[in-house]
Amino acid sequence: MAWIRKIVSLPLYVQILLGMVAGILVGIVALRADGGLFIQHWVRPWGQVFVRLLQLIAIPLVFISLIKGVTGLKDISKFSRIGGKTIAIYLATTCVAVLLGMFLGLIVQPGKLVDRNRVAHIQENYLSVVEEKKQISMEEQGRGPLHFLNDIVPNNLVGAAADNSKMLQVIFFAVFFGIAALTVPRGRIEPVLSLFDGLNDIILRMVDYIVKFAPWGVAALMAGLVTDTGGDMSIFGALGVYALVVIGGMFLLLLGFYPMLIHCFTRLGMKKFIRAMYPVQLFAFTTSSSAATLPVTMEAVEKDLKVSQEVASFVLPVGVTINMDGTSCYQAISILFIAQVLGIDLSLSQLLVIVLMTILSSIGTPGIPGGSYVVLTMVLTSVGIPAEGLALILGIDRPLDMLRTAVNVTGDATVAAMVDKR
Ligand code: ASP
Repeated sequence: MAWIRKIVSLPLYVQILLGMVAGILVGIVALRADGGLFIQHWVRPWGQVFVRLLQLIAIPLVFISLIKGVTGLKDISKFSRIGGKTIAIYLATTCVAVLLGMFLGLIVQPGKLVDRNRVAHIQENYLSVVEEKKQISMEEQGRGPLHFLNDIVPNNLVGAAADNSKMLQVIFFAVFFGIAALTVPRGRIEPVLSLFDGLNDIILRMVDYIVKFAPWGVAALMAGLVTDTGGDMSIFGALGVYALVVIGGMFLLLLGFYPMLIHCFTRLGMKKFIRAMYPVQLFAFTTSSSAATLPVTMEAVEKDLKVSQEVASFVLPVGVTINMDGTSCYQAISILFIAQVLGIDLSLSQLLVIVLMTILSSIGTPGIPGGSYVVLTMVLTSVGIPAEGLALILGIDRPLDMLRTAVNVTGDATVAAMVDKR
């Protein structure tokens, strides 16, 4: 039992990696011993429980954190001065990040590197999903160009919240609610705001518990995947290329996009910016949490980039909640990768939904390690890709999480410098 205690005391990302390796080994042993059925009946369901828990928490998490994010823009006068600009720039940078992710995912197509014949087996399992998607895209062809508005504006909140694929509608309601709350005198809605603060803390604790279960969930899902693929290892090569694509995207943002924005829209030198951001990125990289990095980001932005305290104290906390460029670029690549592995072809309108969902849902991603898992299951479900596909990428996610967190905080600091210059 001492070894179990030792494993449990390891950092979570090491546990997840161990879970992945253990799952692969169990899967290989099962294949050799003809125990595929045993894995499907007795092991895989635990992985499915993990995915279901992530899906369960998705709607409350996004709903509450969005309302908290929007109502967090407390000071209406400050908001009207710099709020509009800040949010517009945040949305624009997120949009660029998502499009970059889409571009890389579609050009490199890492998911297509898996061995078609061997993986036909997994694809068969998802055949009904593929058929369903074809059906939907055929139906979509007959609809008018504005039909997507129906997918955004709900006619019933409970109906929208009851269906994981209607996430966009829940997001719409939460943003609408938050904006309306901003216009009501603060004193009148104080109890509601503190209720949401408390709910947010509870939900984040629940996410924490679910993520603690991740090593076991990943092990079970991996074992199921290995028996599904009949021991095909091309999936791991594809996974390596997928990781390289994510890393490439992150470095393009860090070393290309942000320094360019700083050069064009502020009076700061690129070198000064890169030097000032270095310790912040390192902190974000090691903690994998942009929320935990906030104090360090604030200090660097005010002291080294000489951004006024008024701007920094507004732009950065808002950014931690709503601006996640690294996360959204990564999500776009992951969704495409999972769809490619499962052999699901996405139509243009589905790609557009992914862009929209990724932009909006990155707003609901908490700035904590692995914060995007929950939101990713939600976006996957919204475009009809089985959320279990997440198992493919979780095992190697930690280093990518570290990197995207560094990108997230750099994005916030860049926007703070841009708003201050204005
Ligand atoms: N760890 C990221 C952050 O804190 C969120 C995520 O993408 O998982 O910014």
